[in-house]
Amino acid sequence: MTISPITPPVGLLIGEDWRTSATGGSRPHVNAANGLAQADVLMAGAAEIDEAASAARAAFPTWRRWHPTERRRVLQRLVGLMERHRDDFVALSAQECGIPVQIGDAIVQMGIDWADSAATWADKLAGEVVSSPADVFDYALAEPYGVVGIILTWNGPAASMGISVMPALAAGCCVVVKPSELAPFSALLFARLAREAGVPAGVVNVVTGDGSAGAALVSHPEIDKISFTGGVTTARAISAACARRLTPLLLELGGKSANIVFDDADRKKALKSALGIIVLSGQGCIVPSRLLVQDTIYDEFVESVTAALRHVRVGDPFDPKVTMGPVITEAACERILGFVDRAHESGSGKLLIGGERLLGELRDGYYLPPTVFGDVDNGSELAQEEIFGPVLAVLRFADEEQAVDMANDTPYGLAGFVHTRDLSRAVRVAAALDVGNVGVNGGGAMGGPEAPFGGVKQSGYGREGGKGALLEFLRMKNVMVDLE
Ligand code: NAD
Repeated sequence: MTISPITPPVGLLIGEDWRTSATGGSRPHVNAANGLAQADVLMAGAAEIDEAASAARAAFPTWRRWHPTERRRVLQRLVGLMERHRDDFVALSAQECGIPVQIGDAIVQMGIDWADSAATWADKLAGEVVSSPADVFDYALAEPYGVVGIILTWNGPAASMGISVMPALAAGCCVVVKPSELAPFSALLFARLAREAGVPAGVVNVVTGDGSAGAALVSHPEIDKISFTGGVTTARAISAACARRLTPLLLELGGKSANIVFDDADRKKALKSALGIIVLSGQGCIVPSRLLVQDTIYDEFVESVTAALRHVRVGDPFDPKVTMGPVITEAACERILGFVDRAHESGSGKLLIGGERLLGELRDGYYLPPTVFGDVDNGSELAQEEIFGPVLAVLRFADEEQAVDMANDTPYGLAGFVHTRDLSRAVRVAAALDVGNVGVNGGGAMGGPEAPFGGVKQSGYGREGGKGALLEFLRMKNVMVDLE
C-alpha cells in the first residue's frame, strides 16, 4: 500500500480541552525533505504547562484507583487504535523527522509492540508480603508515582509513545508529555487516540513547545518524576533543575556504540550490522557509529562496507525505494558537516566515501550521503563525540584486549556490538563492555519490549522495557500491622 503525506495534527491536549493557541505562540514546522513549512506548531508557555500538570494531578486519584483490569483494557484499546492508524503514524514519521516509509512501518510497529507489552503489565503488578513475626503483618504496596513529566526527542516519535509513555500509564500514573518541537505530530495523534480509546481526561496531556516548555515542566511542583530522552547537555540542565526539588529522573541519552568485528566473524552478519549507520540517517541513539575491525581483515572488510554504502538510496522519505532520508534540520546538516571538516583539518581519519551535502534534485532538503572515515584515531572528536548523522568512524585493533579497551574508551555507555564465531570470546567481550545493551553476531542492541533498555555512564540511567519499565513509575510503601 502506498503511504502519502497527511495533514499533521496540531494543538495541545490539556485535560479534556484541545487548545488551538498557546501563550508562546506558534512556530512553523519545516519538512526536512524539502525545506517547506508544513504546519504551525503551538509553543506552550509556563501557563499551559501549569494547566497540564494541574489537569494530570486532578485525574490521578481516579486513574490510580481504576481496577487494574479496566486500565489494561482501555490501554489495549489504545494499542488497537494505534494499529488501526499505523499508516498515519508512518506518514507522520516521514513528515516530522524524515523516516523513510520503507522502514517507518517497522519503527511504528516497534512502538505498537512496546505499547502492547506495557499495557498488558497493567494488571500484573503486585506488592509483596514481607516476612515478619507471627504477631505482625507486614506488606509492601507498589504505588504509582503520580504525575510524570515526559520530555522526548524527535528521532522515533511513534516508537517513543510505546517505549516511554505507555509504561507510565500502565503503572497508574498520569502524564504530561512534551514532545520535541522538531517532531510533535505523532504524540498529538497518540493523545487523540488515547481519548478515543476511553482514557479519562487529564490522564494523558500533550503540550508541544521548545526547551523552555520542557524547563517549566521539569521545575513544576506537581511533577513527581521526569522521564527524559535526549542529549547529555540538556540532561545536565534537567538534572540541575530536578536537584532543587529532588525530583527523581529517568535519563535515556546518547551513545557512541562500538561495533567490534573479529577476523573469525560471519562477514555477512557483520556487514549488515555495520550498515546500521544509515538507519534513521545515523540519528539513532544505538547506531553502531564506531566500527572496530581486527587488522587481519581490515582492508577487505572496510572495502565491503564502503562498497555497500555507496549503493544506499538516499532521498524523499515517501519514495518506497529510499532507505535513507534527510537529517532533521538545516542546522543538523551543518553541524554534521562540521565534524567532517574538522576531521579533515586535524587529519584524525581518512575520508573513504561521502562527506559532502547532496544537492541536485535533493538541494532543498537536508540530505547527506553515508560518510566513512578509515583509520580514525580513537582519541579524536570523530571517535569520541556523538555525531548523530550518517558518519561512520572505522578503527583498527590487534587483539581482544585492545578492542575492549578502545570500545570502553568513551564517555558513553549505551550499546555495543560484537561479531565473532568464538562463543567464549563473545560472552567475555559482552561482559567486559561498559554499556547497557550488547548485540552479538547480528543481535540488536535494543531487545524486544520484554528486555531492559538503557545506558550507563553518560548514556543515562534507569531502564525502559519489560517489567522494569513499569517499576520506574512505581514506589514501594511498606505497611506494618501490629496484630496483638
Ligand atoms: P535535546 O536534548 O536537544 O532535546 C530533547 C528534548 O529536551 C526536546 O523535547 C527539547 O525541547 C527538550 N529540552 C531542551 N532544553 C530543555 C531544558 N532546558 N529543560 C527541559 N527540556 C529541554 O536532544 P535531541 O536533539 O532532541 O535528541 C538527540 C539526543 O537524544 C541524542 O543524544 C540521542 O542519542 C538521544 N536519544 C536517546 C535515546 C535513548 O533511548 N537512549 C533515544 C533517542 C535519542
